[in-house]
Amino acid sequence: MDEFAIINSYFTGLGPELPEVLEAQGDDCALLQIKHGELLALSVDTSVVDRHFPAQADPWAIGWRCLAIALSDLAAMAARPLGFTLAITLPEADEAWLSEFSRGMRALADKAACPLIGGDTTRGPLSMSVQVQGAVKSQHHWRRSGARPGQIIVLLGELGLAHLGLLSMLNDPVKAKDSKAWNKAERAYMLPQPLITEALRLAQGVNIHAAIDVSDGLLADLQHLLASSAVGAQIDLKRLPIQPEVLKALGREAALKATLQGGDDYALLLTLDEEDFELARSLCPNLISIGRCVAGAGIRTLEGKVLDPQGFNHFLPQAFNE
Ligand code: ADP
Ligand code: MG
Repeated sequence: MDEFAIINSYFTGLGPELPEVLEAQGDDCALLQIKHGELLALSVDTSVVDRHFPAQADPWAIGWRCLAIALSDLAAMAARPLGFTLAITLPEADEAWLSEFSRGMRALADKAACPLIGGDTTRGPLSMSVQVQGAVKSQHHWRRSGARPGQIIVLLGELGLAHLGLLSMLNDPVKAKDSKAWNKAERAYMLPQPLITEALRLAQGVNIHAAIDVSDGLLADLQHLLASSAVGAQIDLKRLPIQPEVLKALGREAALKATLQGGDDYALLLTLDEEDFELARSLCPNLISIGRCVAGAGIRTLEGKVLDPQGFNHFLPQAFNE
């Protein structure tokens, strides 16, 4: 199977047709129509075999995952998806694998209304780079830099579960093959849910001052937001939800660490005025207020203990084949 047969069979007509997409695959560039008063949001994420997913992993889930982590960045800017491109490197043209990969990717492309509009197909060690394009109203876009002292910090999404899922996949990479056997934590790691609809709903209805998606751990990503905004934060650890599966598997101390520092959850952290919290909760009932922005720098507990924002680090020995 040559490059063009692969593109035609598996990477064409993937996801819905959107009116903004004037040209998708088949020309030298895709063409997107951006409306007046909107900004184009762009982001790219690469997933590498045995680094971001085990080689044996269910290809359906790999297809979902590599798009999901890119879409999470659009959610973090409150951008409506317009389309994505896929640069994929394949060791061989394995049709059974490609078919499942493309089905998993299509499932999320349809769900998020984000069509595949171009890409590049090459031979080599398995990896995929997904570049997403989104549109965001100029007056609505979220950035990391808008937090100010006094604003509350809210969390949307579950923390720690994906880290637990990663640990269990590292222990048992063979299990990665059978997605039907995955528990909640393994699903959280392999099948993250980008919070696009929630972000768009909140952006419409509430004044969100700053936002970031949590991909490298709560503390690490919160620290990025705080540094961009030149503020500090006070976190109420009692309000931080520890997932029961994480508590049960790891015990209290490690569960708290996984919640604060585990990566791959693709939750959202937002800051807003306290008086807007009820409105925000009426739009997204799962929002939890976990703390507040304060003058200064760094992250502290209510009791004043400094929390070290050391999150997931790609260069730690944390690969599926080591
Ligand atoms: P070019 O040489 O002009 O870059 P290619 O020959 O690489 O174009 O690709 C042909 C067409 O197929 C282009 O429109 C490209 O965007 C698309 N394409 C290539 N690989 C992929 C892929 N993995 N997914 C989606 N579209 C792809
Ligand atoms: Mg090319």
